Parts: sequence; structure tokens; C-alpha cells
Amino acid sequence: MTGQPGRFGKTLIRMFMKQAQVTAVETLAGGFHLISLQSDAFRDVAWAPGQKVQVAMGSAFTARTFTPVDWNAISGRARIVGYAHGDGPGAQWLRGVMPGVPCDVFGPRASLDLSGVQGEPVVFGDETSMGLVYAVAQRFPHQKLHGILEVSHAARAGEVIARLALEGVEIHERLPEDAHFPAVERRFAALAATPASFVLTGKATSIQHASRALKALGVSRARMTSKAYWSPGKTGLD
Ligand SMILES: Cc1cc2nc3c(=O)[nH]c(=O)nc-3n(C[C@H](O)[C@H](O)[C@H](O)COP(=O)(O)OP(=O)(O)OC[C@H]3O[C@@H](n4cnc5c(N)ncnc54)[C@H](O)[C@@H]3O)c2cc1C
Repeated sequence: MTGQPGRFGKTLIRMFMKQAQVTAVETLAGGFHLISLQSDAFRDVAWAPGQKVQVAMGSAFTARTFTPVDWNAISGRARIVGYAHGDGPGAQWLRGVMPGVPCDVFGPRASLDLSGVQGEPVVFGDETSMGLVYAVAQRFPHQKLHGILEVSHAARAGEVIARLALEGVEIHERLPEDAHFPAVERRFAALAATPASFVLTGKATSIQHASRALKALGVSRARMTSKAYWSPGKTGLD
């Protein structure tokens, strides 16, 4: 799956990364893995929902990015929900990782800044946004959350939503040529008429599509924040 780091890579890992251990792995549904990471270096860390971590895939030069669902700075535990798609290093790691396996983590670091979110949060994304939806729900416990996720397998995504007890999340199964998007846009139209803020994540081209649709509905830039989590043909976005 992943190679061993060379001497230079090992030095970089020791200098910049937090040495952690995988303590639990749970398959939530086909492709979705809830992974608990434990490290003394995770204690006393200031983490904010929306931030990212990068997990080294056997080398300091090959890392894959995840969004912690939560971070316990007292016990030193962080959890991620990873979606294994295809055969890249991240997908292989997610499928093969077991409790007791060491891993090296860079971060947490800034990614999505949720400090500007006003009104009810709307998270648009896909399979890779499940962890973010969970984190946003914790961040805004008194606001109704609206999750709008485009996914390849609605039943599997539904299982994950149920297992994580996420409320207010609707799924739109992907259709050829983005034919599922009109339904997404109808949901945007209803929410654009409220003071909600929009957090756009997932596939880069879907974010562009969503952003254009929201602009056409009169949603200002100040009410949107976005971060591409993956883009067809590109590897290891951070
Ligand atoms: C800030 C940030 C936070 C992220 N948080 C999460 C998270 O919490 N959970 C999570 O699962 N992912 C998350 N991601 C996305 C994840 O890092 C990417 O999906 C990553 O590319 C997976 O690595 P890989 O080695 O499996 O595939 P890569 O080697 O990076 O890519 C191989 C091929 O697969 C394609 N690909 C990558 N991801 C997908 C996908 N989901 N669906 C379809 N095709 C894909 C790529 O475009 C490429 O063509 C996040 C990304 C960023 C930038």
C-alpha cells in the first residue's frame, strides 16, 4: 500500500508532524470509514471545526487531507470520516488501516473559516463532506443545519447519516450530466430567501456550479465560503 519513508522523509516527519496511533476503525457503510487517532501531541491543541489535517501515507511527501469530525484536546483523540474512492494512497490507507497502526499527522491547520457563518449553516458537498457536516453541527448546536450532499450511492450515504445521527442532511444521488442539480438548485432557492450562510465543499466543478447558482439567486459572496476537496484527475488536494 504505502512505502517506508527515507531518512530525509523521516526527519521531516519528526520535525513537522504529530506521531499518532490509530485506535479504532469503524466501517459506517460501503466506502465510509470512521477512524480514531490518538496522540499526546493532540492534547492542548486549539482546533476549530472546518480545519484540516494531513495524514502522511508512508512518506512526508505523500499526504492526504481529512476534516476532523471532532478533536478532544484533553484526551488527545481526533476522529475523521474518510471516503475510500478508487485506488489512490488515501483510499488504500482507509481500507487497510487497523487499530494499533502508527500514523503521522500534519495539523490541524486552517481550511474553511466558519467564523463568518451567520444564520443557519447550509453545507453543500458530497461523500468527502460527511465529517465536515458533523463538525459544523457541533460548532452551531443551536442553529438548524442544512446539509445538501450529492453522492454516488444514496443508500450508503443514508446509512452514514443514520450512524452519525446527523439531522437535516438530504442526499441527491448523482445523475449523468449533473441532472440532479436542478433539485439542488431548488433547495438553494428556498434557503437563499433566508439569512442562511452557505459552505461549499466537495468536487471543484460542483462548487463552481453551486456558487454560480447561488449568485444568480442573489446570495452575496459574504454569505458563502468554499473549499474544493477534490477535482477529477488531480491528486491529493490540500
Ligand atoms: C481541506 C480538505 C479536507 C478534506 N476532508 C476530507 C474528509 O474529511 N474525508 C474524505 O473522505 N475526504 C476529504 N478530503 C478529500 C480527500 O483528501 C481526497 O478525496 C483525496 O484525493 C483522496 O485521496 P486518494 O489518495 O484516495 O485519491 P488521489 O490519489 O488524491 O486521487 C486519485 C483520483 O481519484 C479522484 N478522487 C479523489 N477523491 C475522490 C472522490 N471523493 N470521489 C471521486 N473521485 C475522487 C481524484 O480526482 C483522482 O483522479 C478533503 C480534501 C481537502 C482538500
